[in-house]
Amino acid sequence: MLAEAAPAVDCEILCAGRPGDCAEQIAPVLPVDLNSPHAVAEFARHVDLLTIESENIDAHVLHGLPLYPNARAIATAQDRFLEKHFFVDCGLEVAPFAPVNDLVSLHAAIREIGLPAILKTRRLGYDGKGQVRLSHPDQATEAWEAVKGVPCILEGMVDFDTEVSLIAARNRSGQFAFYPLTENFHRDGILRISRAPSHPELQSLAEQRLTHLLERLDYIGVLAVEFFVRGQHLLANEMAPRVHNSGHWTIEGSDTSQFENHLRAILGLPLGSTDSRPTVMFNCIGAMCPLTETERFPSIARHDYGKSPRPGRKVGHLTIPAQHPDATAAIAHLESLFATYP
Ligand code: AMP
Repeated sequence: MLAEAAPAVDCEILCAGRPGDCAEQIAPVLPVDLNSPHAVAEFARHVDLLTIESENIDAHVLHGLPLYPNARAIATAQDRFLEKHFFVDCGLEVAPFAPVNDLVSLHAAIREIGLPAILKTRRLGYDGKGQVRLSHPDQATEAWEAVKGVPCILEGMVDFDTEVSLIAARNRSGQFAFYPLTENFHRDGILRISRAPSHPELQSLAEQRLTHLLERLDYIGVLAVEFFVRGQHLLANEMAPRVHNSGHWTIEGSDTSQFENHLRAILGLPLGSTDSRPTVMFNCIGAMCPLTETERFPSIARHDYGKSPRPGRKVGHLTIPAQHPDATAAIAHLESLFATYP
């Protein structure tokens, strides 16, 4: 989707990845071992600047490259413990958390934080992967084995009203742009549905928080922060130093998509307008929604990533402009259809 936005800003995209990556449908892909500093540095010689669309590239591979966002921001977002510390440092509210390095510190963290709580791996966790819920201290050994004894945090369970995300962009001149808060509905830790705008009364609080955060990181590009909403409080859960799934609706729903604004930010161009229309997005998890289910609703925009289906994999999304005459029926149809999906 970043590559699809490139013509709007007149830049060429070269992807570092694996043969068969779905980006191949849009842009040339060079096979690059993203764990190899040498291979990534070699790839960097072909381009003017680099960005990422997955934060799980080891930060030591990224140092010294013409990269936006910078490696420090990526390294902070890669590690849940550093990330939570950083949030606290920036004055954001977070769920109680403690580091866990072995079974002894897990028991200590349970005593400190209380239960229910979630044991989360510090690194490489996404879509609820690398997470184990604990409701009784007797489950500690099993949970520790389930995460294979890698460094973790224990996080107190938040009894939240809902979950929202704020997507922000900051360009090389320090200009900011914010999208409306988006409400996100997950199942089994995976984002299923996003709706924007949401919680307008919390918009300016969220924007203040992200302004501070982006400035502290000297951040260039698009960044998303996911929050738990509890009353009028925003508890920061995690940040993504990249374009974000909960912002896919901006392709149709906003004057400028998150993808175009990410490119604008890193290229040093003025950011585009984020004026937006009410929009709903459904993720297609495990399989693309059949065409027969969407073709009778002209408002539905289909994005099929051309990925091979597998359980839990995001293979596409559907966007519906909420003001379209058939939107209410289309949303109700998709809600009932997707409720029966695994
Ligand atoms: P994460 O990978 O941290 O974004 O977690 C995936 C999803 O699990 C979140 O979007 C929440 O729905 C749920 N979750 C994560 N952490 C907590 C928590 N501390 N309390 C309650 N639910 C949580």
